[in-house]
Amino acid sequence: MTDQELLQAAATYQTPLYVYNLDQIALRYKKLSGAFSADTRFFYAAKALTNINVLKYIESLGAGLDCVSIYEVQLGLRAGFSKERILFTPNCVDLLEIEEAMGLGVHINIDNISILEQFGNKYAGSYPIFVRINPHIYAGGNHKISTGHIDSKFGISIHQLRHIERVMQSTGLNIEGLHMHTGSEIKDAEVFLQGLEMMFELCSHFPNLKYLDMGSGFKVPYQPSDMESDVESLGSKVQVAVEAFSKESGKKMQIWFEPGKYLVSESGHFLVKANVIKQTTATVFVGVNSGFNHLIRPMFYDSYHTIENISNPSGPERIYTVVGHICETDTFAWDRKLTEVREGDILVFRNAGAYGFEMSSNFNSRLRPAEVLYHDGEFHLARRRETFEDLLRNQIEVL
Ligand SMILES: *Cc1c(COP(=O)(O)O)cnc(C)c1O
Repeated sequence: MTDQELLQAAATYQTPLYVYNLDQIALRYKKLSGAFSADTRFFYAAKALTNINVLKYIESLGAGLDCVSIYEVQLGLRAGFSKERILFTPNCVDLLEIEEAMGLGVHINIDNISILEQFGNKYAGSYPIFVRINPHIYAGGNHKISTGHIDSKFGISIHQLRHIERVMQSTGLNIEGLHMHTGSEIKDAEVFLQGLEMMFELCSHFPNLKYLDMGSGFKVPYQPSDMESDVESLGSKVQVAVEAFSKESGKKMQIWFEPGKYLVSESGHFLVKANVIKQTTATVFVGVNSGFNHLIRPMFYDSYHTIENISNPSGPERIYTVVGHICETDTFAWDRKLTEVREGDILVFRNAGAYGFEMSSNFNSRLRPAEVLYHDGEFHLARRRETFEDLLRNQIEVL
């Protein structure tokens, strides 16, 4: 997909606009699955991007789906994932939501002792489950997205192993899988290997185990100096570790991963229009027709997104501060070098597939953007742009 084609999409569907290149998702999936042994499984973390067409496409590639709410489970089933290929990994939900997932027949991952006990008392071993362990590995990345540290709400501390065992033995729980997810944007593959070794040690405590789910954390490059997780090297190291473990213990575990960003980030391009160029005493602002209501990552996580002016790619380079039109500080990028921006130019944010549209809102009573797929050289509208009526759709005018 070329920038020229992106400009055509902006002209056809207007801006702001999310465009997803499905071919890119396929490339990423092939790269990842090709790096690991055939008995490794990949469960796409739906929360990164749940457009139903994207889910259907990822299903067609052969992946499973990791869901964090019962509605993501329902979307996954609707998209065609069989129940065996869905893992439900909620946190801080009540037993009712877990029971809904049981009703749908998907794999269930429990992340606290309280629910583990309630579940065990009611169902004993009649429905197999996963247990989410917090290994307390500090995985790096932004503190807000790190989940394995001691202050994290996620998972059951590895130091509570005895407690998990007691619940399992006294209620007869059937624990078929262990899960850990230490965070996002893990720079060092050693974090995964360290986690895997901890999982292997846990195996002797859980006689029914079949699956070890290593979560995600695959890093994708957002800026030129960023590195990408070296999945080939990780894949071969994991294979060596798994073979050594199975030789030593006589047990065969299937390894699962849950890539979100890694599969969809790069596929996404977010197109906006430069509304105004505003020169102040301190800087030159480009004010665009969007804001953190459409792409919150820069304001929420201090994330970097490459921005390019595709309307004027060979213009002279100048320094800009790119801001949105929300009534709040709403900065996409400070002191960014862009080719000269004129009012009306189309700017593109790269790597906008993951946690872009998905975290959008109607703040400031702005409408959410349209979503377009690019597949086999053609664009397809996959979600229409919201209209004014959408703002009122669920409101009840009682006055
Ligand atoms: C968010 C999440 C993922 C995906 O993380 P990425 O950084 O997008 O790859 C995987 N597993 C669980 C349990 C998650 O919460």
